[in-house]
Amino acid sequence: MNAWRYECEICGHHEEIDTRLWCCPVDGGAFTLSGPNTLAPEHIDLEEPTLWRYASLLPVQRPDHYSLGEGLTPLVPGTLAGRNVWLKNDAALPTGSFKDRGAAILVAHLASLGLDRLIVDSSGNAAAAMAGFCAAAGIGCTVYAPANASPGKLVQARAYGATVIPVEGNRDAVASAAQDAVDNDPSSFYASHNWHAVFVEGVKTWAYEVWEQLGGRLPATAFIPAGGGSAFVGGRRGFDAVPGKLPALIAAQPAACAPISLAYESDARDIAAVTPGDTMAEGTKIGAPSRGRQILSALRDSGGWAVAVTEDDIAAALRELWSQGLYVEPTAALGAAAFVVAIRDGRPIPEGDTVVLLTGNGLKATETIGELLG
Ligand SMILES: [Zn+2]
Repeated sequence: MNAWRYECEICGHHEEIDTRLWCCPVDGGAFTLSGPNTLAPEHIDLEEPTLWRYASLLPVQRPDHYSLGEGLTPLVPGTLAGRNVWLKNDAALPTGSFKDRGAAILVAHLASLGLDRLIVDSSGNAAAAMAGFCAAAGIGCTVYAPANASPGKLVQARAYGATVIPVEGNRDAVASAAQDAVDNDPSSFYASHNWHAVFVEGVKTWAYEVWEQLGGRLPATAFIPAGGGSAFVGGRRGFDAVPGKLPALIAAQPAACAPISLAYESDARDIAAVTPGDTMAEGTKIGAPSRGRQILSALRDSGGWAVAVTEDDIAAALRELWSQGLYVEPTAALGAAAFVVAIRDGRPIPEGDTVVLLTGNGLKATETIGELLG
């Protein structure tokens, strides 16, 4: 018997872990996964220098024929706005973003189900992460991407051997094209990082690592870039595994695309879709996050907040991070920007350790960074 199963975030409908459904068949809601999620020292394989050290709390076994050394990224001391913070540097993951955590677990899971081609829709870091782990696992990857996505962002996925298919239209059109492709090929699977609950189970390991790296202590606060919300929801899931007070979780969005912040400010039950505007934090240009309920409940339960930061705030945070030797892309500076804004606005920050998640490598955004530097 496998202890893991899916549950719809809206109606509570259950599916077994080996289902090929990626969302609720009743109402289209996103799944969460229920399974063992209590972190204690005896659950950690100390000999394993990757996120698979937490295999006893993951829904899939460590693949025995490949690894990219995913996980255990540095937690480094730094300063923002003159305050001491801990910077969790997920830019150091194998393909350069936190998405590797989800991709490592999701690809291993789907490969174990016998699938030999994964179909994803993304134009950025998720495409690179899924393509990279598919390459390592020896299975095929097809990326459906918006036709207007900058080609540079897809070069990494193509380098890993993924087939990249441009689709005209908005983000929904891209998702539909990917889903149609799966319907026409039973050996493939729609492996959307925005929908699949196994992806979040991988992403939660950033929070496990923070707890372990702080010497078995929970931080008081975590500032997290939020677009589709997998880093945010994963953080909640990871910190939830440790007995004690859940850290205040802060969802940081660019003002140009801030549906989470708008829903939080209006105390809404669901996140209403917005049309993304222009922002250099392109990884968070997601107008309709699929895990709306999970994001809002994490905000509520943790006593955190959601905040929209300006492009100037992002640029200033980037410069602070770069000046400390941390080369991250604009999206990755959202959490840092949110921290600086909170200090500037005099918002009370809970006593204790503050962790700021850095989600992606600056080498992903050479052109944008070049323009910022002038
Ligand atoms: Zn449902």
